[in-house]
Amino acid sequence: MDFTLSKEQRDIVRAARKFAIGEFPDRALEFDREEKFDLDLWRKACELGFVGVFIDPVYNGAGMGYLEHCLISEEFWGVDPGIGQAILSATFGSELLLLYGTEDQKQLVLPKLVSGEAIIGTAVTEPDAGSDVTSVRTTAVKDGDEWAINGSKMFTTNGTIATWILVFCMTDQENPSRHERHSFFLVPTDRPGFKAKKILGKTGIRASDTADISLRNVRVPLDHMVGKQGEGFHELMAFFNRTRLHICAQAVGLARGALDESIRHIKERHQFGAPLASFQVMQFKIAEMATWIRASRNLYYEAAWLVDQGRLDHALIAMAKWFSAEMAVRCADEAVQMHGGYGYIDEYKVNRLYRAAKVLEIYEGTKEMEKTIVSRAILG
Ligand SMILES: Cc1cc2nc3c(=O)[nH]c(=O)nc-3n(C[C@H](O)[C@H](O)[C@H](O)COP(=O)(O)OP(=O)(O)OC[C@H]3O[C@@H](n4cnc5c(N)ncnc54)[C@H](O)[C@@H]3O)c2cc1C
Repeated sequence: MDFTLSKEQRDIVRAARKFAIGEFPDRALEFDREEKFDLDLWRKACELGFVGVFIDPVYNGAGMGYLEHCLISEEFWGVDPGIGQAILSATFGSELLLLYGTEDQKQLVLPKLVSGEAIIGTAVTEPDAGSDVTSVRTTAVKDGDEWAINGSKMFTTNGTIATWILVFCMTDQENPSRHERHSFFLVPTDRPGFKAKKILGKTGIRASDTADISLRNVRVPLDHMVGKQGEGFHELMAFFNRTRLHICAQAVGLARGALDESIRHIKERHQFGAPLASFQVMQFKIAEMATWIRASRNLYYEAAWLVDQGRLDHALIAMAKWFSAEMAVRCADEAVQMHGGYGYIDEYKVNRLYRAAKVLEIYEGTKEMEKTIVSRAILG
């Protein structure tokens, strides 16, 4: 197996790094402190072709693999996780449409995501349904030639800025299998009854929009169901098997950012008449971080490569997700430690990395849920 990047992939990495280094650092602190984002930056990333690279050319995408999307994410998250998330999560849901959407749904949504005209989100989590997605209670009931949707969603990324949200709803309450009761709907956010309220006070990735959503008799046409009725749970798992790879890339990017900052700092900072880098304890931290990053990257490259080969391995994806998330948290923690008191101040990049890292162990499947998937695959 050869994981050497092709020339095209190396060019993408170089271009993504150049864009991120040129655009993010001057604005990262302001966006983080003020919990805001400038959508012009997302539009610029779209113009330069960084958004939705895995979308098929028939929908104006670049038709690349999911790995290329991950490579861009690594570079963006290495410079600033909040801005990286704000830009690249603008397509969060397109993976589901590509897998299960009708041709009309794809034509309606995907070209606009690539061109920077629209943003999408996916709302599964509810106040009483987090890790256990089968307990989602938002209902979609058929009424004439429409579906009527009622319920509440929590923590929806892009909730206040998206043009569409894919909403995971209960449609088949009576089905004896709790895995066959739910379905997805493409909900335009301008429908009467749709309300989104921005959540403020997140620990990290504060440039990224997160919202509570309320749906009160929101009506969508029958053809806005995505996928098959009652198959939503299985579709969601297939969706996560793509998007969790993206989380691995976020983790590796963040950890690389933490490593680079640490190397720079310990070479510059002197204590006891010598650079911090001359102390073996610091050298070992660098060695450990570099090794953890390499191991995480190899794990997720293999998982992404298998997906792009049509040989998805869900246990390998779960391994890569929890391992890279824990690795990122550890690297960010060590980076703050090596910065001493400076690392505790938000003006320092390692502080933003430290606060951003924790979410990687929580969203799109907590590390405990990922370990459950892995242990079930092993133990049966
Ligand atoms: C910034 C951010 C963005 C998000 N974006 C989205 C989004 O766009 N769309 C969306 O739908 N959701 C989103 N989420 C929600 C996220 O996916 C959930 O927070 C996550 O799935 C966990 O659910 P929960 O918060 O309800 O925690 P819970 O499920 O209540 O879990 C709490 C703790 O209990 C543990 N636990 C639960 N069940 C078990 C078990 N059986 N065995 C062992 N341990 C268990 C968990 O691992 C966790 O440690 C986002 C969250 C955040 C913070």
